[in-house]
Amino acid sequence: MEVKKFNKIMAANRGEIAIRIFRACIELGIKTVAIYSEEDRVSLHRYKADESYKVGKGKGPIEAYLGIDEIIDLAKKKDVDAIHPGYGFLSENPEFAEACEKAGIALIGPGATIQRQLGDKVAARKVAIEAAVPVVPGTDKPVTSEEEALLFAAKCGYPIMIKAAAGGGGRGMRIARNRQELAEGLRSASSEAKAAFGNPSVFLEKYLENPKHVEVQIMGDKYGNVVHFYDRDCSIQRRHQKVIEIAPSPNLSAAKRQELCDYALRIANHVGYVNAGTVEFLMDADGNFYFIEVNTRIQVEHTVTEMVTGRNLVRNQIRVAEGYRLDDPEIGIRSQKDIQLNGFAIQARVTTEDPTRNFSPDFGTITAYRSPGGFGVRLDAGSAFPGARISPHYDSLLVKISGWGISLRESARTTARALEEFRLRGVKCNIGFLDNVISHPTFLAGACDTSFIDNHPELFQ
Ligand code: ADP
Repeated sequence: MEVKKFNKIMAANRGEIAIRIFRACIELGIKTVAIYSEEDRVSLHRYKADESYKVGKGKGPIEAYLGIDEIIDLAKKKDVDAIHPGYGFLSENPEFAEACEKAGIALIGPGATIQRQLGDKVAARKVAIEAAVPVVPGTDKPVTSEEEALLFAAKCGYPIMIKAAAGGGGRGMRIARNRQELAEGLRSASSEAKAAFGNPSVFLEKYLENPKHVEVQIMGDKYGNVVHFYDRDCSIQRRHQKVIEIAPSPNLSAAKRQELCDYALRIANHVGYVNAGTVEFLMDADGNFYFIEVNTRIQVEHTVTEMVTGRNLVRNQIRVAEGYRLDDPEIGIRSQKDIQLNGFAIQARVTTEDPTRNFSPDFGTITAYRSPGGFGVRLDAGSAFPGARISPHYDSLLVKISGWGISLRESARTTARALEEFRLRGVKCNIGFLDNVISHPTFLAGACDTSFIDNHPELFQ
């Protein structure tokens, strides 16, 4: 085992995840560096670090966090040993991973090779097939013409999902229920993908009606050891984006859970996965699993896994990147058996969006903010305090509220209570909507599939 401890870590990100990373660093006695855009000059994450530097002069608020050369140069100048990319921005960009390596800076996450094998959804499907993991029936390469798409439709039938190979965040996705929608969807998904990801490539999958979204948290060290931290159910979605997540998936039998986690480990072992990642699947009403993608980074919803396993994933990510083995006391996972589930946790994403106005983002100044607390409640927030300015330029996630309980019902009670305790004035938010979902009998029965929100417009009241 070759360990090189880090003295200073930069979070190449903003908001709650930058703060989450700094917290782990502080707990490990590692110095912290923040970067911030002009737009974020009074954002909280900047003040939570030991040092902070403005980036992206003359660039837009998003582009500021995407400047690979500038970020690497700054890291070198400030003696940063390692960069944590968080989620979004540069977190799944193999060119960034390569630039870090070239500069002699560790990236806290899997390297460029693994990112390339799994980052593109078509490539990842190939890996899954090689690893004998079931995938959604689909094309094995990008579709470049209407004729190819029609051939697939003839073979597999409608409805069909058109997906961007480089997709993420629910963008570049279209459902086609007939020939005309397929032709139109191909064009619009491809141009959306080009605009959003700089890559117009799309492929086709059979569209599964009303599946559940289940996913497995994995982590590997640099010596070929990989474990899973069990599963999450992320079926509560709007526009294919997660709103509420649960760990572990409710109503999954021990045998099905084992099958799911084994599939995830097969993929991880096939590529020699290093650091944290998530293997995502859909599950149909008969309990069949279908691989959909791998996220080669820490995810927004890692909190619920931490709550039910008691494992600090971000701290473990840092230790793995420093070269520790999973079974080192610093990480403390001697074998898979050391990871045990305890109870349930639910994460609700509080956003500054107005559910009564089709979730359009709201912005302005927070005039009143009183956060909940008490047993079983965890909060992960970015700039959420009285006087904070909510910018229209970034993701509308304000705070993640996670509630723990010994059963699904108990964790729902904790989470609903925390949502009800919350006071926020000055900007609109989705707290009432989240509370409606968590209090719904279908939710409490652990029976929501990915169409739940769309099928229940009364939740918006
Ligand atoms: P992204 O990378 O944009 O998050 P994913 O491939 O992870 O895209 O899919 C996001 C969501 O879209 C899934 O959780 C599911 O709700 C829906 N979805 C994706 N593929 C299919 C499919 N083949 N059939 C039905 N729903 C799908």
